[in-house]
Amino acid sequence: MQTCDFLVIGGGVIGLSIAREIRKRRTDARVLLIEKEPSCGAHASGRNSGVLHAGFYYSPDSLKAKFTRLGNERLTTYCEEKHIPLNKCGKLVVAKDAADLPSLDELLRRGHANGIELQAITETEAKSIEPRVKTYQRALFSPRTSTVSPLQVVNAMQQDAVREGIHIQCGTAYRGRDNGNVRTNRGSIDAGYVVNSAGLYADKIAMDYGFSEKYRILPFKGLYLYSDEPSGSIRTNIYPVPDLRNPFLGVHFTITADGKAKIGPTAIPALWRENYEGLGNAPCRSKARRSTGTENRRSIF
Ligand SMILES: Cc1cc2nc3c(=O)[nH]c(=O)nc-3n(C[C@H](O)[C@H](O)[C@H](O)COP(=O)(O)OP(=O)(O)OC[C@H]3O[C@@H](n4cnc5c(N)ncnc54)[C@H](O)[C@@H]3O)c2cc1C
Repeated sequence: MQTCDFLVIGGGVIGLSIAREIRKRRTDARVLLIEKEPSCGAHASGRNSGVLHAGFYYSPDSLKAKFTRLGNERLTTYCEEKHIPLNKCGKLVVAKDAADLPSLDELLRRGHANGIELQAITETEAKSIEPRVKTYQRALFSPRTSTVSPLQVVNAMQQDAVREGIHIQCGTAYRGRDNGNVRTNRGSIDAGYVVNSAGLYADKIAMDYGFSEKYRILPFKGLYLYSDEPSGSIRTNIYPVPDLRNPFLGVHFTITADGKAKIGPTAIPALWRENYEGLGNAPCRSKARRSTGTENRRSIF
């Protein structure tokens, strides 16, 4: 039986961040993080668009708006301190027709209310930022949006966590509760507090503790298509005006940290949680990276 003061379940960016914050506030606490995969960041945290969003999508009174703005500032500083390459290429939000303009204006209003640097620009100005971009009449430019390799961020956080005295145990899956202890595939853990940061399985763990009874996670997956054009051929991230009623940003062009363009993600219902390929599955990192993009690299313009 292992014992700890805090047990963090899940080694994604959220679990690692919470574990480090606990350790910072309670330097004497024994903090144990368990991750079911052989390494941290094997799921959403290691396979996303890698965008450090500026924070102008969310309504000003929301925590999302506050956390996105603060997160952008702090992650930028963190990446710079750790020498993790950041592509500070900014982001254009473009309108496809007149119907998009009210939402474009709403994004501008939210950006200003959230204290985010955001520029309303003409089509000509947009073309001076990225010559191949098309927009209807006007666009927004966010200079604070940048991109990073999400796996590099997770790896750096994992190394920091270990250095700070957090015990990280990969290959250890939460299986349930037993007489007040946590049951895993590698024995039981007697934990003072349990932190549930298990991503796509967070709802199931929450239910074991009497929360989230009315909620179920509906898995969606996003596919990316990579361009075979050389690095730097597109200068900035390009996003459509989103439908603000939905939680999706719309299919966008992302410029990766090394300057390559990819388009995506789609948002399609997945057959099950962590379902990245057709009827197969790809729990390990190397396969995961293939499944979120496509092997068939071709021109996407
Ligand atoms: C297609 C896509 C693109 C995105 N793009 C961006 C972006 O550009 N910028 C941005 O900021 N955000 C983006 N996001 C969102 C971002 O990826 C997530 O908000 C973030 O990764 C969530 O982190 P997490 O730690 O909560 O979850 P995860 O990264 O899923 O971590 C949860 C961990 O818990 C582990 N776990 C699960 N069950 C158990 C168990 N029973 N026992 C032990 N461990 C368990 C899992 O293996 C996993 O490692 C994107 C998301 C998607 C899907």
